[in-house]
Amino acid sequence: MRVAVPPLTPELEERLRLTPFAQLGLALTLVRSVIDEGYTVPSPVQVEVIPRALEGRDVLACAQTGTGKTAAFVLPLLQRMTLAGDLGTSSGRIRTLVLAPTRELAAQIAERVDVYGRHLRIRHTMIYGGVSQRGQENALAGLPDLVVATPGRLLDLVQQRKIDLGGVEYFVLDEADRMLDMGFVRDVRKIVALLPTKRQTLFFSATMAPAVETLARTMLVDPARVSIAPAVTTAPLVEQSVVFVQQPDKRAFLEGVLRDPTVERALVFTRTKRGANRLAGELELAGILSAAIHGNKTQNARDRALEGFRRGTTRVLVATDVAARGIDVDGVSLVVNFDLPNVAESYVHRIGRTGRAGATGRAISFCARDERPLLQDIERLIRRRLPATQSQERPNERTARGSL
Ligand code: AMP
Repeated sequence: MRVAVPPLTPELEERLRLTPFAQLGLALTLVRSVIDEGYTVPSPVQVEVIPRALEGRDVLACAQTGTGKTAAFVLPLLQRMTLAGDLGTSSGRIRTLVLAPTRELAAQIAERVDVYGRHLRIRHTMIYGGVSQRGQENALAGLPDLVVATPGRLLDLVQQRKIDLGGVEYFVLDEADRMLDMGFVRDVRKIVALLPTKRQTLFFSATMAPAVETLARTMLVDPARVSIAPAVTTAPLVEQSVVFVQQPDKRAFLEGVLRDPTVERALVFTRTKRGANRLAGELELAGILSAAIHGNKTQNARDRALEGFRRGTTRVLVATDVAARGIDVDGVSLVVNFDLPNVAESYVHRIGRTGRAGATGRAISFCARDERPLLQDIERLIRRRLPATQSQERPNERTARGSL
C-alpha cells in the first residue's frame, strides 16, 4: 500500500537541492529517498556511474557488493523511466530488466527499488527459480515496468510466452563475473539476444577477468568505464587476523571463538557444501545456534536460514562462497574463514560481509599447514600481511609463509 508522503516544501526542496546527490543530476524525489535512508554523500561508484547513466550512456563498472553499486544503477534508471513517461498508467511492457545471479541478490535489488522508488509510481516484480511459477505469472499479469530476475526462470517464462522482453529499454547485468562462475553465460547471452538492440545497458562485475570483458563487449555500445577500488581498501573498519591452526583442531577453536558473547552474528565460510552442513550440525550439537546455506539447499531452506540469521534466532551462518554472495545482513560482527578460499579475491568478498555501513567488524582466517600458499595469495592481493593471533603454532615467518 502506498503511504501518503508530505509534499516537498520550498525549504525541503532547497535543502535537497544542495546535497551532493542532487549535484549528480538526480531528481529531488529520488534525492529525498536516499536522504531518508540516511545517506549523506554518494559513494565513489555512485559518483562515477549516476551522471553517465543519466545521460543515457552504457556503463561498464567494476565494483563489488558493499560499494553502493545497487543505488548506482537503480537511481538513474528510475529517473530515466519516469522522465520517459508512462509510469503508473502502465505501458503494458517491461521497460527495465535487471538480471542477477542469485535469488538473494535479486531480492536485495528489488528491495532497493522499493526504497529508492517509494515516491514514484513504479510497478516492479521479481522472477526467480526454486519456487512455484504461479505467483510470478500473476505478478506479470499486473504489467510491471521493471523486473528483477535470475536467468533460468526468466528464460523458462520467455519460452512459455509468459513474458515478453521486446519492449526493454534499460538493461542491467549485475555481478557478471558471478554469472560466469555459476555457468549462466549461455542463458545470459540468450536473454540479451531477446532484447531490442536500441537500449541502454549497465554492466556490473566485481572483477574484470578476460571472460567478463568478452561478455561485456557483446552487449555494450561505447560504454563509460568505471572502476572502483575493491572493498578491502574501502572497508578499513574490518580488523583482520589469521590463526595458524591444524585442520582437525579448527572446529574446537571455532567454538571457542564463538563463545565470545560480543559476537552477535557470525558468518563462517567453508570450502564445500558438505563441509558447511557438517560444521553447522556440529556447532548445533555444541549448543551454538547455527544454520548452513549453500546451493544444494532448496530455496525455502535458504530463505529460512537467512531469515533466522536476520532476526537473530540463528547466531551463526555457515556458508559456501557462492551461496554467501549477495547476503546483505547488517550487524555481522564476525566473519570466520574456516577454510581459506582457493581464489584470493573471494577473501575480499567474504570479509566485505562485516564492517558495513560504518560499523566495525572482525575477520579471522584459520590457516592449516597446507593452506599457507593460499594465505600468501591473499596477502599478495591485499598488499598487507595479516597479523597472527592466538596461533597454536607460530611458523617460522620466512620459511612457512614465504616473502610477499
Ligand atoms: P550495495 O553495494 O549496493 O550492495 O550497497 C551496500 C550497502 O550500502 C547497502 O546497505 C546500501 O543501503 C548502502 N549504501 C548505498 N549507498 C550509500 C551511500 N551513498 N551512503 C551510505 N550507505 C549507502
